[in-house]
Amino acid sequence: MNPLFNSINMTQKLVSINTISKQSNLPLIEFVESWTEDFGARSLRVESDDGKKSNLVLSIGPEEAGGIILSGHTDVVPVEGQDWSQDPFAPWIDNDKLYGRGTCDMKGFIATVLSAVPQMSKLKRPLHIALSYDEEVGCLGAPRMIEKIREKLPPVSAVVIGEPTSMASVCANKGIAVLKTRVEGFETHSSQTHRGVSAVMIAARLVNFLDTLAEQLKTECIEDTGFVPPYSTIHVGVIHGGTAVNIISRHCEFTWDMRMVPSENIDDVLEKFQSFITRKILPEMRRRSPAATIETNLIARVPGFEVNPESPAVELVQRLTGITSLRKVSYATEAGQFQNSDIPSVVCGPGSIDQAHQADEYIALEQMHFGDALIRKIIIEQQKDIA
Ligand SMILES: [Zn+2]
Repeated sequence: MNPLFNSINMTQKLVSINTISKQSNLPLIEFVESWTEDFGARSLRVESDDGKKSNLVLSIGPEEAGGIILSGHTDVVPVEGQDWSQDPFAPWIDNDKLYGRGTCDMKGFIATVLSAVPQMSKLKRPLHIALSYDEEVGCLGAPRMIEKIREKLPPVSAVVIGEPTSMASVCANKGIAVLKTRVEGFETHSSQTHRGVSAVMIAARLVNFLDTLAEQLKTECIEDTGFVPPYSTIHVGVIHGGTAVNIISRHCEFTWDMRMVPSENIDDVLEKFQSFITRKILPEMRRRSPAATIETNLIARVPGFEVNPESPAVELVQRLTGITSLRKVSYATEAGQFQNSDIPSVVCGPGSIDQAHQADEYIALEQMHFGDALIRKIIIEQQKDIA
């Protein structure tokens, strides 16, 4: 017989399996699969191309339409360089808080769902549990999982993505694009600026141009979008280039991101950036060095998310939690990916985003209890006859 878990010791179990995005999540997937099998869960793996990671979709109850998906990501952010007071993968409880990497984001929520699996009986409509990989590195795993859900599962009525929102319903998040721009110039002695093409100096102009675009997005934002900040943002986070003060740099690259309110288009900004390069910067560079190049690659792209407050997913969660306030957030979630596949989506889960991704990440035990209560009510919802 399988051991039973409550949500607290299930969180401890899940956190003890290290699933930092860069490594395999298969040990966690194997544990979840084997533990839930005894309770009648049907499992479907959707693996990454190299087979080192997998999404997992569990289905419980009748194979019928009207299911609710409870969704979370299995990966967590790294701990390197963070000042943890104890081992982040040996969760501990102190002062009614459960500490450890992923307690808040978002193994606590996954644990409230999994520990309730033994109670998921006598369902009139199914419950599905969707666990993704590589969310923290650009929501890379979910698209293929959602595709399989659409292909293999009867139509579902809603998905609840349990990211930490302190149990508030989140009906919108900004869209995100992460990009890397590489500049190749022409190396000469630093005294010969008339011959060389400095990649560092060119990159500086490009960064400055992005700053101008960011300022435009800010000043052109007229409506109160409900996000904090209310406008779309552009930010360059990392820059590397050059080798010595007396060498005109051949190489420079910078990584940047855009966080767009859902009504604004990432491609519009990209187009302005690209046209500045092809019309103004490249011709200047190539007058001195025909081989000079500027290349921009998209590293990750997550669509924005916005649903009507009357969406069945939002209605469900607001009714069951009793919390009617609606929030919009500026961090990425998989909600836009579900919603774009016509699955009504809402983001709602225990814990506060303020504690996510930090040293000594924790979730308040009270939040875990709120999470448990929501899952209990969702089970009852699926046990009811349809009125
Ligand atoms: Zn998360």
